Amino acid sequence: MHQQANQRGATGNSLSYRPPESLNAVVMHDGGVNAWLDDPENGTTIQRPAPVLEDGNLSYQIPGKRVPLGFYSAGTANFRYWTAVEALRRGADFWQARIPDLQWHMGRKLTVVLDDGVDLNAYYDRTALKFFHGRSSEGLVYSGESPDILCHEMGHAILDALKPELWNVGSQEVAAFHESFGDMSAILSALQLPVMRAAVISETDGHINRNSRLSRMAEQLGQAIRESYPDAVDPDCLRNASNRFMYKAPTLLDSSGPASLLTSEPHSFSRVFTGAFLDAIAGMLLAAARDRAAPTDDELLQMSAHMGDILIAGVRNAAVVSNFYSQVAAGMVQAAGRINPAYPRPLKAAFVRRGVLSLHSATSVETLGTAARSMFGDGSGEEPISHAPSGIALDGKPYGLGDMALIVETPSQPRRFAASSAVNEFAPVQVPSSEVAARGFVEQLFKQGRVDLSDAASEADRIDPLASLKTHRLVKAEGALRLERILCDCGLNHD
Ligand SMILES: [Zn+2]
Repeated sequence: MHQQANQRGATGNSLSYRPPESLNAVVMHDGGVNAWLDDPENGTTIQRPAPVLEDGNLSYQIPGKRVPLGFYSAGTANFRYWTAVEALRRGADFWQARIPDLQWHMGRKLTVVLDDGVDLNAYYDRTALKFFHGRSSEGLVYSGESPDILCHEMGHAILDALKPELWNVGSQEVAAFHESFGDMSAILSALQLPVMRAAVISETDGHINRNSRLSRMAEQLGQAIRESYPDAVDPDCLRNASNRFMYKAPTLLDSSGPASLLTSEPHSFSRVFTGAFLDAIAGMLLAAARDRAAPTDDELLQMSAHMGDILIAGVRNAAVVSNFYSQVAAGMVQAAGRINPAYPRPLKAAFVRRGVLSLHSATSVETLGTAARSMFGDGSGEEPISHAPSGIALDGKPYGLGDMALIVETPSQPRRFAASSAVNEFAPVQVPSSEVAARGFVEQLFKQGRVDLSDAASEADRIDPLASLKTHRLVKAEGALRLERILCDCGLNHD
């Protein structure tokens, strides 16, 4: 792969990584584009082969005038266009290679709006990926030029294509997994770049769960948000996958809080799974490396492909239940053994250390797998669980809905794995019933003012902040109101 790395210093901050001379040796003269390596805040541009916007089953369309191919300078709209196309194509190609027949939820083409106005935000709403711009002390911040954010949003669309039944379900853990999948998608997409692999191996000395430009998501957007809300995001980025957060049942956590605390807010709670994921890929890389003291670029590339396969198998096999994390984790451990016998041990260790899997679940997952195979098939990911979503009717009065009942989809598919999470082995987490999980989810949404009540509640009964972006709406159906997701919101949730 022809690549050239340049230090642009676009934001004026010092750079911790300088690519080795060999990476600068090849200059691409035509047929390519300039793009950010990961996030504009890091200021490293690379040259990449011309990406194809409309390609394969996971194709994109960008409304407006097409920008001619060329090596544009950072800071221009033309550069932003091509760095976005490069990241989105690279991310989609990674997932397409794993699942060739996967299609976007809305069909063959996913619309991408690169700048939809003023906001420090980005979201996926089942019709499009939307990006915005906002002001920071360093100038304008465009969420649609950060490969971290682009590949996170694209990850929401991939997961929605892979497992559409997650979209409307009333579960904090499922909502958090959607966010975690976005970050995991960004990490795996970043690892497809040779310059990134060299950078992260060098920066972490081969221990890639250390804090690095790979673990730090969306440094520039994080910086912009931090200027207005100092404790809303991590100190060095939007979210850092190199973290120590431990699993707690989200129904027992506060619904919001500073970034230093774990809360049940989906982005906050996502950090538990993403943290375990980063620990797992670090452990799996060393387990598979020929020399544990010096894992190579090729070994990191191969492990990232394997981890993509393992993650997909885990997601496909996971029942949509209140303890969704442990179901995905158990499926991943099973799948990992089929790819490389060296993988399950570090993968189990990562999930156990976080409490995502209890020690008992982790040690018995292979036995459970045998039982599951006899009940449900071979568990290879070819046979997803199909079970129509069920719902419960909640009293609408506490939510200002008068006599109307509120219908919420519950996380209540039959479990494939008897796996559970743990705070510790002496106090295993009681798995909340699907009803308790759904109530907790609804309460959180209403507390945060995330439900569009415009058609459902009188002005006097509404407590939702006027300016907050709504993630859910209420749809009238047979004398009741059904809760439906509008979008996955990924940015600044303050009004
Ligand atoms: Zn998101």
